[in-house]
Amino acid sequence: VRVDSVDFYYLSMPEITLDVDGSQDALLVRITAGGYVGWGECEASPLVSIAAFVTPPSHGACQPVSASVLHQQLDSPADISRISALVQRNSMDLLQAPHTYSGIDMALWDVLGKARGVPVWKLLGYSCSYPKTPYASLLFGETPDETFIRVRTEVAKGFRAVKLGWAGFGEGTVKRDDDQLAAARDAIGTDGILLVDAGQIWREDVGAAADRLESLDRHQVTWIEEPFLPDAYSAYSALARQSSRVRVAGGESSHNARMAINLMRYGDIGFVQIDCGRIGGLGEAKQVADYAVSAGVTYVNHTFTSNLALSASLQPFAGLENHSLCEYPAEPKRLARDISPSTIRIDPDGCVRAPDSPGLGVEVDLDALVQYMVPVELRVGGHDILKASLTV
Ligand SMILES: [Mg+2]
Repeated sequence: VRVDSVDFYYLSMPEITLDVDGSQDALLVRITAGGYVGWGECEASPLVSIAAFVTPPSHGACQPVSASVLHQQLDSPADISRISALVQRNSMDLLQAPHTYSGIDMALWDVLGKARGVPVWKLLGYSCSYPKTPYASLLFGETPDETFIRVRTEVAKGFRAVKLGWAGFGEGTVKRDDDQLAAARDAIGTDGILLVDAGQIWREDVGAAADRLESLDRHQVTWIEEPFLPDAYSAYSALARQSSRVRVAGGESSHNARMAINLMRYGDIGFVQIDCGRIGGLGEAKQVADYAVSAGVTYVNHTFTSNLALSASLQPFAGLENHSLCEYPAEPKRLARDISPSTIRIDPDGCVRAPDSPGLGVEVDLDALVQYMVPVELRVGGHDILKASLTV
C-alpha cells in the first residue's frame, strides 16, 4: 500500500495551566493507506508540529516532513525505516521534524500491523509480550503531608511503584527534599518501589545532586531521573560514579536513538527512558532498546498522556522480560482519557501488557474529541497551506 493521507488533530483542554502536565493538549495523527487507518500521537506543541509538516521548503535539507512521507510505499518494517531515514535527510535543518515524525511513525506501524493482522511488537521482532509493573507518575505535593496523601491515593488503587517529581524538588534545602522523600516512603511502605524525577533542576551541578544521594539512598529510591540537562553526559557519569545503590535515569528528551545511546555510553545511566512521541517513533526506540540490552541498561517507557501513546511506548520493549517497570499515566486530563475508549488496564496481577490486537491495539473515538478540537488555518504568501476545520 501507499501512504494516501496524513491528517493532524490539534486537541486542547479549555484551559492550559503552567503545571508540568503534558496531557493538557495533544496532537493526534491519522494516516490512511490502502484502506487501512493508523493512529499516532506527537508529544509536542501541536501547532509547531503541524507547521513542520506543511511548511514551504527552505532548501534541500530543510523540507517539510510531508515531502518524505506522502505517497511512500508502506509494505514492511523496512519501508518505515526508509521513510524515517528520508525525514532525517530531507528535514535535517527542521528541528521540530522528529516530534512531528514521531506521531506519523506510530501511525505507520499501526497501519502495517493492521494490514498483517499482528501486534506491532511482533513486527519489531519480539515473539511474546511480557507483563510490566506500572508506576504511577505524580508531582510532589506542596508539603510532605500533601505528598503522603497523593502517594497513598495511588497505593490504594493498587500501584506498587510511584514516581514523584518537580514541584520544587532540588531547589531548596537538602532537608526539605529529605522530608518529602520520607513522606513518600512512609506512604508507599517498605516494599514499594519509589522513584524520583529531578526534572533537570541541577543543570550540570554534580555537587548539588550528590548532596542528595545519602537521603535518596536512605529512603531506598531506585532511581534519580534527569538530574541534569539531557546532553550533560559528563555530569551524568560523575554522579553515577559517586552513587552506589541509587541509579541514574534519563533519556526522555532524546530526539533520536543516538542521543539516548550516548547517554548510556558516556553518561553511565542505569535506566534509559524513551518517549516514542519525541524520539522519532518506534523504530528509533527499538534501536535504543537493543543497545540497552547489550549495555546492561534497563529500558523504561516515558509516557504522560493517552492510552494510544502508552501502547506505542510499550511496543519497543514488550518482549524484554527483565525490563519490567513501566510508566503509567495515573492522572491524565480527561482529554487524554477521551482519546481512546479502549484502555490499557492494570490486570488483577497488578501488571500491564502491550495489547495483543493488530497494530497498536488502541482505537480512537473522534466523536468524543470534537469538544477539544482546535481549528487551524495556515496561510503563507496569500495561499492556504493548511485549512483544517477538523470536524468529524
Ligand atoms: Mg521525567
